[in-house]
Amino acid sequence: MIIVETTSPQSDPRTPGAVMLRVTAIADGPLAEAAFRIDHERLYPLEIMASLAQAGAFGAHLDRNGGNFGLAIDAMRAVSRRCGATGFLSWCHDVCGLYMEQSGNPALTGQVLERHVSGQTFGGTALSNPMKTFAGIEKMLLRATKVPGGYRVSGALPWVSHIAPGQYCGAIAGVVRDDGSTSHEIMFLLRCTPEVVLRHCPEFSGMEGTSTWGVRLDQFFVGQDDLIADPAKPFIARIRAAFILLQTGMAIGIAQGSIDSMLEVEPLLGHVNQFLHDRPDALQAEFDELGERVATLALTPYDGSKDYLLAVLDVRTHGAEFVLRATQSALMHQGARGYLIHSAPQRRIREAHFVAIVTPAIKHLRWEMARLLKEELPA
Ligand SMILES: Cc1cc2nc3c(=O)[nH]c(=O)nc-3n(C[C@H](O)[C@H](O)[C@H](O)COP(=O)(O)OP(=O)(O)OC[C@H]3O[C@@H](n4cnc5c(N)ncnc54)[C@H](O)[C@@H]3O)c2cc1C
Repeated sequence: MIIVETTSPQSDPRTPGAVMLRVTAIADGPLAEAAFRIDHERLYPLEIMASLAQAGAFGAHLDRNGGNFGLAIDAMRAVSRRCGATGFLSWCHDVCGLYMEQSGNPALTGQVLERHVSGQTFGGTALSNPMKTFAGIEKMLLRATKVPGGYRVSGALPWVSHIAPGQYCGAIAGVVRDDGSTSHEIMFLLRCTPEVVLRHCPEFSGMEGTSTWGVRLDQFFVGQDDLIADPAKPFIARIRAAFILLQTGMAIGIAQGSIDSMLEVEPLLGHVNQFLHDRPDALQAEFDELGERVATLALTPYDGSKDYLLAVLDVRTHGAEFVLRATQSALMHQGARGYLIHSAPQRRIREAHFVAIVTPAIKHLRWEMARLLKEELPA
């Protein structure tokens, strides 16, 4: 992606160029060094996340900082190029900050948000199930009942990342009437206090350093100070495209890392690799084109039109398909080197598959596009 620099990085530390210099230095240094341990030893890189926050990686997209989604996505790209799991944590952290700010709730937009953006506290997002519920794919897993001063929430979510005791995440519950029907949904900041049961997940084939837990709530109290949206549906309709568009940073970054790996072996293996499909120059051209589409869409993240949402769903799908191809090709280009347990190409294949299955998964994206396009057809 192209960041337009108006002043030199030295003159103002908040310029996009200055932010990217700092973020890239962390990504290419300590993060690249830790990538194997994050992938294989379940290292949850909170110290690195804190330093990325200090570098300005997680605040650019917020209205208070000018709503520069292009910069937020570019920072996620630089991180994901070195470690897809940390790229995913970056997205979790970014959208959680977005929920807080867009809530307009003074209890979530002041110091609480400042501490989040500057990496003094951490939190993610538990919206997979509600997003799929709103799309008509599955049923809402959290249920709320109205009580004086707030709601009581019960239910369980199978996996939520970037949480731990003392951390938090954005969550949604269906509000149930006495007769068992759902009146509407609420969105809230779920704080992982001792009443919240965090269950270890079964071992995944990747993303093991993302601190992913099963969450169980039993009559958990949510007060007004933690409400993000009531009702939640209009709020989700407003932020949905931004939520999805931000994810492209993961796809683009992991794909870029794959192109790096192909070029690395070109002097040695180019004579035979020329017979492979998806060569680095072809992937680079596609990477550039995808980056430009994302950068353009990033200029208007709250465009509520159907055309805009379709364009975002399409670019996110393209990103997921592209990263699957790029990571596979990188392994083919590297051969046995790329198949070694310490090598990045085999790790990236697992990271890319996560990009393709994390909500919205490719199948979910196509479902949504088909639904929206059907609405456009004459009856
Ligand atoms: C490593 C990892 C981290 C994740 N982090 C988050 C997060 O931070 N926040 C969040 O909201 N979601 C998270 N998810 C969930 C993710 O976004 C998807 O919802 C999930 O991968 C399934 O998506 P799907 O559309 O392919 O559903 P499908 O695979 O088609 O499955 C349908 C439903 O069955 C459930 N399911 C399938 N297999 C199992 C199983 N073995 N045990 C229990 N339930 C099962 C799925 O969750 C889903 O709801 C994470 C998933 C993984 C693997």
